[in-house]
Amino acid sequence: MKIFFDVDYTILGLDDTLRPGTTETFQKILDDGHEIYIWSGMGERWEVIEKHELERFVSGVYEKPTHHFHERLVELKIPVEPEFVIDDYPEVVAAFGGVWVPPYFFSRSIDNEMDRIYRIICDFIETGASEDRQYRAKGTKLPLF
Ligand SMILES: [Mg+2]
Repeated sequence: MKIFFDVDYTILGLDDTLRPGTTETFQKILDDGHEIYIWSGMGERWEVIEKHELERFVSGVYEKPTHHFHERLVELKIPVEPEFVIDDYPEVVAAFGGVWVPPYFFSRSIDNEMDRIYRIICDFIETGASEDRQYRAKGTKLPLF
């Protein structure tokens, strides 16, 4: 499965730290045979990938559409269809299906969201859905809360 992660507040905090468990979870996702892509509404965030040494995990780094999500994939030169999206921005998750995560800000906060994300991915692989309330099926209609 092609799994797309957002950057700001999803894997990266305001203090420039990675969300706890990010690299461990990325490794598990790769071990399970999936591909990881990183995208951001702020553009291609290679500086984040390099600073946190994420190159070995990722199959591509792209700019993320912030509206007309499906239509803009071509314009943004994203060569693959996102099959599962992890984001703190609910609209993009609803468009492609995936996991909405509460924003991550600072390394001092206790945060187990990466484990939760991984469990939801496993649920989805096994059953095509998840009971977790942070899971969003593709095409979910807003409002989400
Ligand atoms: Mg974000």
